[in-house]
Amino acid sequence: MKNKRKESSFEKYLRTEKGRVFKDKFLQFEADEEVNCILCGSDEKKTWYTYDSFKAVTCKRCGLSYMSPRLSNKRLQKVYEETYKPATDFEGRMHDMSTSDERARKRNDMKIEINNTLNYPSKGGRVLDVGCGAGIYLEAVPETWEKHGIDRAPWAAQYTEKILKIPVVYGEIENVNYEKHFFDVINMTYVIEHLRDPLSILKRLNKWMKPKGRLIISVPNFGSICSKIFREFYRLADPCQHIYLFNPRSIKRMLKEAGFKVKKVYYPYFNTPYFNFRDFFRFFINSFNRILLPLYLKFNIVLKVDKLIAPPFYGNIFVVIAEKSDDQ
Ligand SMILES: [Zn+2]
Repeated sequence: MKNKRKESSFEKYLRTEKGRVFKDKFLQFEADEEVNCILCGSDEKKTWYTYDSFKAVTCKRCGLSYMSPRLSNKRLQKVYEETYKPATDFEGRMHDMSTSDERARKRNDMKIEINNTLNYPSKGGRVLDVGCGAGIYLEAVPETWEKHGIDRAPWAAQYTEKILKIPVVYGEIENVNYEKHFFDVINMTYVIEHLRDPLSILKRLNKWMKPKGRLIISVPNFGSICSKIFREFYRLADPCQHIYLFNPRSIKRMLKEAGFKVKKVYYPYFNTPYFNFRDFFRFFINSFNRILLPLYLKFNIVLKVDKLIAPPFYGNIFVVIAEKSDDQ
């Protein structure tokens, strides 16, 4: 033990055979970088939960939550540079983005998002997808749009450029340059929580956008009921890669600081395939299990992770539509 702090039920679970799933998924590196709040500069933080060598903390002054300690950029780059491996989820299902079935499923998710965000009010223009990954979002964008992508993973940039035949820049946003006032829309789907300094990146994106340009951000909601109940077992908690733990309030504050005005926040769930009978009831059963985990462990009852993890549920993700402020 590193200190005398009482071991959490998650840490006890980690030490069991069934807890290995978290080690294999997330804990091949140790956190080695301590950071302070990028929004207000304060170094006063309280620990929300501990995740092996990682910690989720909340700024005492402004309420922004983030990981500290976290992985240094060098270690993080190693995580991203690995060639693409199909991921296995907590229910044991494989997700391989290079198969046409998985792409079709994801593309359908994106089409719902695009119908809600991109096609209103304009039906075309120049769009940039930051962190475009395997290109699913850009593939789902109608052909009336001029499409551009950026990704820091070389496999992703090459793959998307090849299959969609559009310009994709490989690199970190800090080192990428576009002309001022170039894009009508910039999209970031599950990207901002990965950024090491999201505030300075948002300021950079602001410069690339036309006046009144639209920014669309989809992000895990760490203010959700699932995040609060499940904590480390929240299915979107990823200590290596999800380093800013936003809620609608903290992201609004950051966007304002970066020169954006929030127009709309919404929580996709009921019109998505994630709203289904099975997962809806799993929410109640798994919440019950998660709350009783300390008791189970006391009696040496070790549940499988799919009985303890947060299922997809209302509020787990949210989408922010923001506009570049007039004075930028
Ligand atoms: Zn702060």
